[in-house]
Amino acid sequence: MTNFLPFSMPDIGEEEIAEVVDSLRSGWLTSGPKTQIFEMEFAHFLSRRVKAQEQTEPVQPLQALAVNSATSGLHLALEAMGVGPGDEVITSPYTFTATAGVIRHLGANPVFVDIDPVTLNIDPRKIERAITERTKVILPIHIGGLACEMEPIIEIARRRGLKVVEDAAHALPSTYRGHLVGTLESDATVYSFYATKAITTGEGGMIVTRDPEVANRCRVMRLHGINLDAFDRNSSTKPSWHYDVVAPGFKYNLTDLAAAIGIQQLKKAWSFQERRALMARRYNDELRDLPTILPAGAPDGDLHSWQLYILRLDHSIRITREDFIKQMARRGVGCSVHFIPLHLHPYWRETYHLQPHHFPAAWRAFERVVSLPLYTKMSDDDQTRVIEAVREVVDLAAALPQNSLIYSTACSD
Ligand SMILES: *Cc1c(COP(=O)(O)O)cnc(C)c1O
Repeated sequence: MTNFLPFSMPDIGEEEIAEVVDSLRSGWLTSGPKTQIFEMEFAHFLSRRVKAQEQTEPVQPLQALAVNSATSGLHLALEAMGVGPGDEVITSPYTFTATAGVIRHLGANPVFVDIDPVTLNIDPRKIERAITERTKVILPIHIGGLACEMEPIIEIARRRGLKVVEDAAHALPSTYRGHLVGTLESDATVYSFYATKAITTGEGGMIVTRDPEVANRCRVMRLHGINLDAFDRNSSTKPSWHYDVVAPGFKYNLTDLAAAIGIQQLKKAWSFQERRALMARRYNDELRDLPTILPAGAPDGDLHSWQLYILRLDHSIRITREDFIKQMARRGVGCSVHFIPLHLHPYWRETYHLQPHHFPAAWRAFERVVSLPLYTKMSDDDQTRVIEAVREVVDLAAALPQNSLIYSTACSD
C-alpha cells in the first residue's frame, strides 16, 4: 500500500534538528551541558505546576536524572531502593516486559497483581494480599497515560514500609488529583523517551525523585559507579584525570545528542498533550455508537497524556481482534496491541508457572484491545481515514451471518 498510515511516528521539527547540529558542532557528544540543561528543564517542567498549588510542608526539590532508556531508569531506581536477590516487587502483568525484566536483573521476583478492568491499571484493592515479608517495592504503570489510583497505593506502601516506583513511560504529562505524575509522593518516577513515546529522544529516559539518597545512588550507578560524572569532572577542582569508583556501576547515561532532541521536545510537551487530547475526544465522539468499549478517560479536572488510544471490541462484534487489525491494515491503517500481558509470554509463564486465568482481567482485556494510531504528526484527514476504516470493518463484521467462523479463515492472508 502506497499511502499507509503507520501506527506511530515521532514529531521532529527543525528546532530539534538545529539543537542536535549545535551539539555536533560543539564537539560534546556524550553526557555534558545539554544533558544538564535537559535535566534542569525537565525538573522545572514538573515543578512549575507544583508551585502554583498550595504547598503545606517544605519538601526536597525534585531532581531529574537523564538515562539512556526507561528500562535503565527503572533498573537504577529499584537498585537504589535496595532491591536485591529474593526480594519481591509488586507490579501488574499488563505492561511492557521491561517493567518486570529489570526486577529480574536484580535477582528479585515480580509479583503480579491483576488490573482494574476499566482503567487497565493495577487494581489497588488487590495489592495488599500480594505483600509478603520479601516485598520491597510497588511498581504501578500508568497505562496509556491514565494515572493509577496513587492515593491508596501510596497509603498501602507507607503503612507496610514499602517504596513506590512509578513506571511513567506513558504519562508525560498526566495528572492525578490535579498533581502532575512525577510530583506525587512516590519514591521515584521513571519516564521513557523511546521513539514511540509522547516526547522522544530516539532512546532515552528520565528518573525523577525528591529523595537525595536515591538521586545520588542513581547518579553514581548510571555511569560506571564513578562518583562524579564527566561534566562535573571538568568543572571540579580535582585534577581532570581523577575519579573514584565506588560501585560496579552501569553504562546508562544519556548522550548530549539525545538530550538536544529532548530539550526541544519538552518545549512542545504541553501542545502535544493538547493535540492528543483533542484527537482522543474525536475518536470518542465518532466511535461512541459502535459495538466497542471506549478507553477510560481521566476523572474531571485531570489530564490524560493519551500516549495510547486503547479501544476494545465488544463481545457482540463478530470479528476477532486479529482479523480486525488485518482488515484495518488492508485499509491502510496500522494498529497495535497494548499489551500482551506478561503472564502469557513464555519466559514469565514458565518461570512463575502462570496461567491465563491467574489474571483474568488482564487476560480478558488483552483479547479485545486494539490501539488506534494517535500521534501529533497525524492530520485531521488521517484521523478521518482511521475512523472510516473502523466503521467499515465493524459494518463488515455485522453483515456476517451469526456465529460465522468462515470469516476468520476466509480473511487469513
Ligand atoms: C516503552 C515502555 C518502557 C520502556 O521504555 P524504554 O525507554 O524503551 O526502555 C517501560 N514501560 C512501559 C510501560 C513502556 O511502554
